[in-house]
Formats: sequence, structure tokens, C-alpha cells
Amino acid sequence: MQGKKIQQERLFINFQLSEYVPADNFYRQLSQILDLRFLYKSTADYYGSEGQKSIDPVVFMKLMLVGYLENLTSDRRIIRTSRMRMDILFFLGYDLDEEFPWHSTLSRTRKLYGEDQFITLFKQVLKLCVDHGLISGKRQAIDSALVRANASISKMVEKQVMADANVYVQELADNVDKDVAALEKPICNDKTTGTKRVPASNESHVSPSDPDARITMKPGKPMNLYYRSQVSVDTASHLITYIGAFPGNAADNVSLPKILEKIVENMQEHNIQVNEILADTGYSSGDAMRSLAEHNIEGYIPNTASYKKDRQEEGFTYDIGNDRYTCKKGVHATFRCYEKLAKNRKLQRKIYRTNPADCMNCPIKSTCLNYMGTRRIKHSLDKPLYDQMYQRMSSDRAKTYKKLRSSTVEPVIGSLINYTGMGRINAKGIEQANKCMIMAAIAYNLKKLLKYKAGLSPSATDSTKKSIDEIIYSHLCYFRLARAVLLSIS
Ligand code: SF4
Repeated sequence: MQGKKIQQERLFINFQLSEYVPADNFYRQLSQILDLRFLYKSTADYYGSEGQKSIDPVVFMKLMLVGYLENLTSDRRIIRTSRMRMDILFFLGYDLDEEFPWHSTLSRTRKLYGEDQFITLFKQVLKLCVDHGLISGKRQAIDSALVRANASISKMVEKQVMADANVYVQELADNVDKDVAALEKPICNDKTTGTKRVPASNESHVSPSDPDARITMKPGKPMNLYYRSQVSVDTASHLITYIGAFPGNAADNVSLPKILEKIVENMQEHNIQVNEILADTGYSSGDAMRSLAEHNIEGYIPNTASYKKDRQEEGFTYDIGNDRYTCKKGVHATFRCYEKLAKNRKLQRKIYRTNPADCMNCPIKSTCLNYMGTRRIKHSLDKPLYDQMYQRMSSDRAKTYKKLRSSTVEPVIGSLINYTGMGRINAKGIEQANKCMIMAAIAYNLKKLLKYKAGLSPSATDSTKKSIDEIIYSHLCYFRLARAVLLSIS
């Protein structure tokens, strides 16, 4: 007989949330390992002793976590989703009919709490991972990704306008009827006004809603306002050991010394010494290599194309002891002066030159010398460091590490952007962006940790073993089949 469900709501039910959330549920397991009670003490200074009660700091942090775990980038969606999910209600410690905080409370509290609260939580989760033996910490892979800022490039205004902002505010106070829009010069006005487009750059323009966001260009990405997320990943476990927000236009090699400092600090708290750093060419610079040496870390960072070009001074060998180059005919190019780079005045290069009189009788002088009759060779002041790196990158180990780096940190960044709410920053300012990135990294590490713990459970171990046995068996079948075919052919 066909059944038919009749919907009839009951006025009173006998219901207990904990009975309906299974023991292997992600949020139930998360609530068992994550202790956020430290927040009551660490955030006490943000509140006064009187007035309306704030959101519970633990509930706030759990709601933030839910947002990144569920890939929800809007505070409204976090509240709406949490209300509808029994497991999240259980994780938050709420009952079915309990009133939820208003969504704007989340953004206000996020602004109220300093970065240190989020960093403390990140370190606590990192400690959990270390305690479970997940982090080796000895080899770290570093990479960066651009993350869209919560600001529009078309709404940027000229910096001069922002510098005179106080004058304009005073004018506004004097004449409240004045149109605010008329005080700003947007990059692109309405076509009807006939205003010409002003080319935007970080030097001349700034976003009034998020002054820390920077115009950034990268192949394959549209020119827009971005922050740069620097991520360090442990190659043994693929867990994130450091994450931080930098301006979108900050070069990777400029940020490396600060990144190294933070990675070493995070690992030293667990008595782990970082031995090797793997990064791409973007992180190569003299400062970066000096910073690696200061921390006693071996870097695997390919040199830039300009070094490769300088190195290939055909027919010349460099004598480090006498600090000079020598050609195949035995003529020396000696050190003459320092040259400042046009792009970065702080960086200098060494210039070496041959003596015109030494090359008078050389048959190849027309192709070897310049119009002044000398051969000019230049190299960076950090040439010994670059040479050392070149030697290291020529080894077989470096080739293996190149593959390891791309298979470790790049998938992690992809997961952060696509599945852990880091596709776009939903806050303004670099400090807020840093908090968002840290929360995304916490969510990622917690997912990994719980996956690892689930893998240790007897049922999961059996199923894994079974699947491996199945794979071996299927390969054996294929092998037998192939052998039978070959025998029949022969
Ligand atoms: S031209 Fe001068 S520097 Fe060049 S190969 Fe001949 S001797 Fe050496």
C-alpha cells in the first residue's frame, strides 16, 4: 500500500540535540579537541564592566570557524547556515529555539579583537597538530597567492583628494548640502558627464574604502585590488605552519625575511629546527639569501634570469681570491666601480673592465669589446651567495625538491581559495585581511587534523586496508591477464 506523509507540526516535542548528532560528526569531534576557553581571559580587556552583554567570545570564534569550514564568505550566510544545522548548533552550544547573535555583531567583534587573538588560536591548533605527530617542520615550502580585496578598482580616487580630506570634512561640516560625490574624483565617471578615464596606479590613486588594498597585475589574473597571502606548508604533512597578509604589490623576495622569522618563531615554540626552505624564483634576492644564512637554513630557491645572464659571460672565469675576471687569452677584467640599479637605488652592482692596451692584438676583439675598446662585466654584490645557490640548485636533490614544492604548497593554496573561504577578503584593511587568512588556515589545519584522527580509528583503518588490498588484487589480476595474452601470442 502506498504511504503518504501528512505534515503536522507538533507543539511540544521531547528532543535532545546531542542524541541527534552522531559521534563521528565533524563538529562533534571538533568540539572534543578544540578548547577555546582561553578567549574569556585574553579578550576581557576589550569589554567594560557595565552595559549590554556582548556575544560570547567562544561563540564568536566558533562562528568565524564555521564560516571558513563551510566556505561561507558572508556574515549573514554564516548565521543563516548555523541556524539550520543541528551539528553546528551542537558545536556552538546552542539549542534549537535559542536566539542567535545578529550578523553585524560578527563584523564588529572581528574588528574589535586584535590580531593576537587569531594568532594565538592558530598557534594552539598548530600545537594540536604537533602533539599528534603531524608536523615534522624541518622542510617548509613557501608560495604566495593574490586574494581579492573587498574594494572596487573603479571607485579609487586620486591621492591628492585623500590628503586634503580634513579640509573637505570641514567644508562638509560648513555646508551639509554639498554633494559628497562632487568632492572626489573617481577614476571612471559616468559617460554622460564626458569625464576622461584617468589611468590608475598605486602611486597616484587609493581606494577610499580600503586604503591598504593595492592594484596588482599578474599573468592570467585581471588587474584589480588585491592582498597577497604568503603561505608556508610543512612538506611532510601538508599542514600550514605560517600564513600572513601582505600588500598585493609586495614582491615575494622582499617579504621572505619576515616570513622566515615567523616560521622559525612558530616552529621554535615546539623545539623544531627548520632546516630547509623550498620556494620559487620570485623569492630570490641577496637579502633573502642572507636572511636564510642568518637562520642557519638551507634554501632551495632558483636564481633569477638576470643572474643566469650575468653568469654566462662567455670565455671568462671569475677568480674569487683576486676579485677579477680572466678571458681565455689571459687578459684580466679588474674591478673598477659600483653601479646603482635604476629600479632600486639601495642595490648595487660591481663593474669590471679590461684594459684596451691588453687587447690590441686579439683577433676577436671586434666581437668581444665594446665601442670604447674594453670588455665590461657586471655582477651583483651578492654573487658568492648566488653562485652557492646555483651549485645547490644543480643537484639531483634540488630537482626532487622542485617537484615536491609544487605538489605541496600549490594544492594547499588552491584548497584555501576554493574551499576555505579565502576566495575573497570580506573585510577592509590589511589587519582584517590577515585575520581572515589566519582563520582560513586554522580551518584548513583542523580539517586535516580531524581527517588524520578519523584515519586512526579502527573502522577507518580496516576500510583503508581493504581498499589497498583491493588495489593490489586488481593489479595482480591485470598482470595475470597480460601474461596470459602474451603467452597466447607467442
Ligand atoms: S678581446 Fe681582450 S678580453 Fe676579449 S678575448 Fe681578446 S684578449 Fe680577451
